[in-house]
Amino acid sequence: MPWKRCPFCGGLSYSAATSYNEWLCPYCEKDITSAPDCSPDSSATKPTDVTTSRPED
Ligand SMILES: [Zn+2]
Repeated sequence: MPWKRCPFCGGLSYSAATSYNEWLCPYCEKDITSAPDCSPDSSATKPTDVTTSRPED
């Protein structure tokens, strides 16, 4: 999920859209489309463990 940190005010914003043509900071309303994507807490993102139960023979 795309997050961006505004280089102008430092505010963190999130967009649910997977593609975007224009991204305005919700705090200062500047164009931050070219700002790099970031994750607010990258350490918390880990793949979900999928446990498959298989019958024993
Ligand atoms: Zn901003």
